[in-house]
Amino acid sequence: MVQSFNPPVRTLMGPGPSDVHPRILEALSRPTIGHLDPMFVGMMDEVKKLLQYAFQTDNELTIPVSAPGSAGMETCFANLVEPGDKVIVCQNGVFGGRMKENVERAGGTAVMVQDPWGRAVDLAKLEQALDQNPDAKIVAFVHAETSTGAQSDAKGVWELAHKHDCLVIADCVTSLGGTPIRVDEWGLDAVYSGTQKCLSCVPGLSPVTFSERAIDKIKNRKTKVQSWFLDLNLVMGYWGEGAKRAYHHTAPVNALYALHESLVMLREEGLENAWKRHAHHHQALKAGLEAMGIGFVVPEAERLPQLNAVSIPEGVDDAVVRGRLLNEFNLEIGAGLGDLAGKVWRIGLMGHSARAENVIFCLSALEAVLGDLKAPIRTGVALAAAQSVYSAG
Ligand SMILES: *Cc1c(COP(=O)(O)O)cnc(C)c1O
Repeated sequence: MVQSFNPPVRTLMGPGPSDVHPRILEALSRPTIGHLDPMFVGMMDEVKKLLQYAFQTDNELTIPVSAPGSAGMETCFANLVEPGDKVIVCQNGVFGGRMKENVERAGGTAVMVQDPWGRAVDLAKLEQALDQNPDAKIVAFVHAETSTGAQSDAKGVWELAHKHDCLVIADCVTSLGGTPIRVDEWGLDAVYSGTQKCLSCVPGLSPVTFSERAIDKIKNRKTKVQSWFLDLNLVMGYWGEGAKRAYHHTAPVNALYALHESLVMLREEGLENAWKRHAHHHQALKAGLEAMGIGFVVPEAERLPQLNAVSIPEGVDDAVVRGRLLNEFNLEIGAGLGDLAGKVWRIGLMGHSARAENVIFCLSALEAVLGDLKAPIRTGVALAAAQSVYSAG
């Protein structure tokens, strides 16, 4: 007979999901109430306020989409792209490719600006594409490319897009809560994120925020949004202010308790402190990895602290190492994607995973496995290197 499923306790240091804090898991198990219950509606309003804080925005339309980050992505493109619209898509990894798919499925034309995987978006190339495509309506880019660990200059993208009268769609799935995002200051028009990365919540929700400019475009569409579920004109009636909330779909009630708790925790810690914490543990992990002789893929100035893409040492079998880390140490790290498959590991320090015990544990487990495999690394130095970062405070 099939029994209850009891997952092992793992340490999650891949590209997401990250370790979920016990407080958030506990919130998830609180009693389910109706999604139109006034108590629940009150909590939804708090979630919106807390998300405005996390995104650093006053945007009224700031809500969690009831589905994972990919649905937040699709919400942005399905609502903002009308058939015939030209969209400039900056691609420097896997997720920019999905943006292209989204543009085309919404009936738009994607003009691709390609950058090498592992580098930030090149603003000069973007400017050239904008000059060559004066009829472009939207610029889309990935702020934190989880497939490579590169971070792009969001403010720089907006400045160019704005000069050319374009709206900006930003993928901030991995950046929210982990590295600075200032939606209003940076002028981003449509931003989507996810709950299972630096918010350390369970997977399955996608916080999004839309500027007034974006809402104008959505309200003045000539054609209906092709997706009924993601049509913001309908979703706004559900998440809108006030008591007369119209049924649209059944909100994932308990998952929203979890998101509420994770945002309360972010508020308690303070957004800037959370950004600093990610940077600090990144420095310790980096010191340890480099002491071992393991190098980073992304140039230092463009690196994300919460996603560390590092080169696999010569002659080492990627899958063997990740398999042993999982089976012998209950530790998950991420594999490379696309062109980087088999060449890099992606070590996540997201949300609750960004703490000293994870850094020290990951370095020791990796050293144990690589040492056993006689890989070309320096042993016996990584922990001291990481600890010296912590001792310096
Ligand atoms: C994880 C991720 C997504 C997709 O989120 P899901 O919750 O897996 O659907 C999109 N963009 C980036 C940059 C991501 O890291």
